Amino acid sequence: MTDAERQGEGQTAGRTAYVAELQCFLCGSLAGSIETDRKPLPPNGVWHPVGGGRPQRVPDWRALRCPRCGGALYAENVEAVVRYDEADELRREAPRRGRPPKWLVEERRRQRDAAESRL
Ligand SMILES: [Zn+2]
Repeated sequence: MTDAERQGEGQTAGRTAYVAELQCFLCGSLAGSIETDRKPLPPNGVWHPVGGGRPQRVPDWRALRCPRCGGALYAENVEAVVRYDEADELRREAPRRGRPPKWLVEERRRQRDAAESRL
C-alpha cells in the first residue's frame, strides 16, 4: 500500500451501497443478498449468502442459483445503506490482546462522555 492510499483511508466517512435481497423464483426462499455501489442494480456485486457464508465478489449475480432447489434468483427490496471502509472496520475491530491500547481507552471515554452529556 502506498502512503497516498493510507492517507486517503482516513478521510472516507462511509459510502453508499445498495443491498438487494435475492430470492428464488421457484421455491421463494431467500438465498442471500447482493451488494453493489449503484442503482439500478448492475450484474456485478458482492454476494452475501444467507446463513453467514463468506461474502464473495461475483461478476453476475444472475448466474447464482438457489442453494435449496437450484432455481434462478431475482432481486428484491433494494435498500441504500452506508458502508464504512473495510479497512476501517478491521482497525476498529482488531483483536485485542491484554489491555486495550491507550488511544482506544481514550476514545471509549470520549464516546461515553458524549453519550452521557446527551442524557
Ligand atoms: Zn429455490
